Amino acid sequence: MTTISPKNQIKIKPTQLFDGYRITEEDVLILTQEGTVEAVVHQSEAGDDIKKVDGLLSPGFINCHCHLELSHMQGMIPEHTGLLQFVNQVVRQRDAPADEIAAAIEKAEAAMIKNGIVAVGDICNTADTLFQKEKNNLYYHNFIEVIGFEPGLADEAFKTYKMVYDGYQKVFPPQQLSLTPHAPYSVSTPLWKLLAQFPGNHLLSIHNQETPDENEWFINGGGGFKALYERLQLKQSPIAPTGKTSIQTYADYLQKEQQLLLIHNTCTDAEDVRYIQDRFPLVFWCLCPNANYYISNRLPDIPMMLEQNAQLVLGTDSLASNYGLSIRGEMQRIQQHFPQITVEQMLPWATLNGARALQIDDLYGSFEKGKRPGAVLISGDTVMLLSKSNV
Ligand SMILES: [Zn+2]
Repeated sequence: MTTISPKNQIKIKPTQLFDGYRITEEDVLILTQEGTVEAVVHQSEAGDDIKKVDGLLSPGFINCHCHLELSHMQGMIPEHTGLLQFVNQVVRQRDAPADEIAAAIEKAEAAMIKNGIVAVGDICNTADTLFQKEKNNLYYHNFIEVIGFEPGLADEAFKTYKMVYDGYQKVFPPQQLSLTPHAPYSVSTPLWKLLAQFPGNHLLSIHNQETPDENEWFINGGGGFKALYERLQLKQSPIAPTGKTSIQTYADYLQKEQQLLLIHNTCTDAEDVRYIQDRFPLVFWCLCPNANYYISNRLPDIPMMLEQNAQLVLGTDSLASNYGLSIRGEMQRIQQHFPQITVEQMLPWATLNGARALQIDDLYGSFEKGKRPGAVLISGDTVMLLSKSNV
């Protein structure tokens, strides 16, 4: 191993340093020129040539939930319509000229980088984002998302999305890919089973309990989804009501060792959290508060989740349901609704927990020796990437 001589080091002393675990005010971050972490040391031990900066220095942010391919839909759907209306509008309005979609994707990625995001859990129904991801500006975990309402057409739905998966497989290694169910209400029981058994699906991302209608269908077969299934004139409903909540129903279909990234959770209660955490070894609950506010003006019960020791992470969702793609913006929304939750409590959600949720904590999420997580300076209203991440 080569020893780094001090002149090749970058030493940064911010007003506050968040290392992935806690905030300190007297520590210095030492990086190589390439951005690999050498050490975090007390300023009295850091030697000379220390660059002082105003603000809070954090490892790069992890955006655990985005749909980059919907970036061209910014501002197209009105706020506070509720989830069923929202999804209906996305399906109706997502088509656009290819060059318009591509330009919006490129612009949205640049905005994420500007906002200090270094890695993204990105939902893909199409291969539209591949051209941009090949440029390697950001780390991506690509969740190829499967939708299929009709139980009798499960095999066809699986094959359709497997083709999208195969396209990504030409560019990305298996650890950056999953074939994942969209939501409990939009994936039929046989399709759930196909996805749960798909080899290499080490990590699944599921839109979970985003609307009260979801639990209503699973518990008593009523509500907005009953009406939707009737409108779709399905031969059979995707999944039969069980008298239990959605999450307590589909848990039965998943492998015992499955790592889970559960998105939204606006209607999840303490019993649901306990039920899942008792059964699966690694569960991350992704909060997308701006999207929740935009779509339904309702946020998840975050204090309850903290009481249940839920491991929380943050996501922006897409520009179809957000004002921007900023993890800091998500933290600000949480503080508006829950002023008792501090920045120091939320920063691990934005960094180390997110890296663990995407299975990249060997390189991202904290200032620990050998990692290259990127370094983000938050100063007043500005967020700035001071050092690049591993990509
Ligand atoms: Zn989403």
